Amino acid sequence: MTYQAPVNDILAALKCAGALDPAMMNGAAEGLDEATIRAILEEAGKFGAEVLDPLNRIGDRTGSRLENGRVVTPPGWAEAYRQFVNAGWSALPCPIEYGGQGLPSTVAMGVCEIWNAANIAFGMCPLLTNGAIDSIFIGGSDELKSRYLPRMISGEWTGTMNLTEPQAGSDLNGITTRAMPTGDGTYRITGTKIYISYGEHEMTENIIHLVLARLPDAPPGTRGISLFLVPKVLVNDDGSLGARNDVVCAGLEHKMGIIASPTCVMKFGERGGAVGYLVGEENRGLNTMFIMMNAARLAVGVQGVAVAERATQRALAFARERRQGRAAAGNGGGMAPIIQHPDIRRILLTMQVLTKAARGICMATAAAADLAHHANDPSLREKAAGRVALLTPIAKAFSTDAAVEAASLGIQVHGGMGFIEETGAAQHLRDARILPIYEGTNGIQAIDLVMRKLPLSAGAVLKTYLGEVEATIEAIESRSAEGLRGIAEPLGDALVALRRASQWMGQAIPAEPEAALAGATPYCKLFGIVAGGDALAKAALSAGGEFNKTELLRFYADSISVTAPGLARTVMEGARSVLDANLGVPA
Ligand SMILES: Cc1cc2nc3c(=O)[nH]c(=O)nc-3n(C[C@H](O)[C@H](O)[C@H](O)COP(=O)(O)OP(=O)(O)OC[C@H]3O[C@@H](n4cnc5c(N)ncnc54)[C@H](O)[C@@H]3O)c2cc1C
Repeated sequence: MTYQAPVNDILAALKCAGALDPAMMNGAAEGLDEATIRAILEEAGKFGAEVLDPLNRIGDRTGSRLENGRVVTPPGWAEAYRQFVNAGWSALPCPIEYGGQGLPSTVAMGVCEIWNAANIAFGMCPLLTNGAIDSIFIGGSDELKSRYLPRMISGEWTGTMNLTEPQAGSDLNGITTRAMPTGDGTYRITGTKIYISYGEHEMTENIIHLVLARLPDAPPGTRGISLFLVPKVLVNDDGSLGARNDVVCAGLEHKMGIIASPTCVMKFGERGGAVGYLVGEENRGLNTMFIMMNAARLAVGVQGVAVAERATQRALAFARERRQGRAAAGNGGGMAPIIQHPDIRRILLTMQVLTKAARGICMATAAAADLAHHANDPSLREKAAGRVALLTPIAKAFSTDAAVEAASLGIQVHGGMGFIEETGAAQHLRDARILPIYEGTNGIQAIDLVMRKLPLSAGAVLKTYLGEVEATIEAIESRSAEGLRGIAEPLGDALVALRRASQWMGQAIPAEPEAALAGATPYCKLFGIVAGGDALAKAALSAGGEFNKTELLRFYADSISVTAPGLARTVMEGARSVLDANLGVPA
């Protein structure tokens, strides 16, 4: 079943998020009218369907393999990368001054969804390169920027993010990779990083690693971590490639999903130290990384949207063809297509609303990120930055959980065939399962939301957001003529539940932090349900009561918003059962 980019849906989500208002974008959206964005998305859709999608199964079956230190990507991968770069896709979201096209985050996220839906294992490569580009752009010296950015943005070189070590995953305090200053302005890096996506491959001549490491006199903990640029091949002053740097891929992980994406064990400094260049200030590497990580977390949320969309498309196509059982409505003899069975309809609708709600949340976050960068008015920029901070953990956690759920439901629609690899449905679940884990597990997102985001501006960021959700629900209520009216009640109940749970959190965080942490994940889910309802409500409102959008909102309200009060109860009353249970914690 071929992937078809949902251009209309992406465009609608973009518009609902208010992303096409050039008046607020200080020139950054010049010439970007709806027709242009549609043309970009359609071109991306064509590339996704014609070039990336056909490699998806091949990549899943073949995987990447390590041969004498070289990573061999699956057949067709290097050629697809060459075409990707030649078509200019790598430069889309990147800064104009270094050769990028400077397109807004909303458009970039729309296109990112398409790459990852067509072939997520391929999509990982540009996603990580963009993260590395962002970090160098934010923290690098002018010299580093002019030497590395143009060739990363053009796609001539790719980039990686080297954070994780065996003893330092969620908690980067434990990083032990060392950086010794040499006195000539460079550093020598030694240490081992694990799980590094696209840490080694031969699709490009060079790979630019961004590596977190400690200086010898660094203070302990996260305040003693610095960020270094470590090229695979050293770059001479005239821009030509020089000697191979002291960094190698020592192994490839065997994984459950995204099998073609090489996940590498990287060894730095086995022959005396890899040459590294400081990005930003010494001991302040995490600050740079965290700015970049917001963008990367949103991008992983978009990967979730992508897999959920793909699984939904596949399940819908199957359910229209597969005949089994008689339709309960009983229209004639013979077997009915399973799409007629109420239970299958419920599953398909669940997949659809989860996908669209996730897309709406991600687009709202991307639109706020664009405003935070470009708005003319500084107070608008500040407000938008608060919104990005608040919504990023929701965009990441809700969308990636949605991907796993949609992919699992997609298998259910296929029945036994879903469990058989040929169908392709199983691959979506295997691919989706990493999404709630990397780029900060969803448990860590929930803790970030509760401990850092709720208290932002003494709770004002949250309050403003909830006020806007309330206004959306009121707008739904007032549109009785369009059949939207009855939908407002469950949406409103969910908002009340979130407000109560937020108030409880506000008291629990200082008084009983353990209880607040015990409720963090259900709180994050509850928040996602409300934010998803807001996204679908805005879609229904902007479609002027269009039947399909109204029906999807009604289904969401009836079957997903209604679970919100239960989650609020778990947040507020469930902590003791978590904390008091005897799980045999080691002394
Ligand atoms: C396929 C793949 C690709 C990856 N790509 C990259 C990459 O390119 N670059 C890179 O640097 N890393 C990469 N990673 C690493 C990934 O980001 C980490 O696996 C992830 O951050 C989790 O760290 P961990 O595996 O050490 O789990 P741990 O940190 O050991 O966590 C285990 C469990 O404990 C929970 N937990 C941990 N601490 C807390 C806490 N304080 N409170 C509550 N719960 C907690 C976690 O939520 C999780 O459920 C990749 C991983 C994989 C599998």
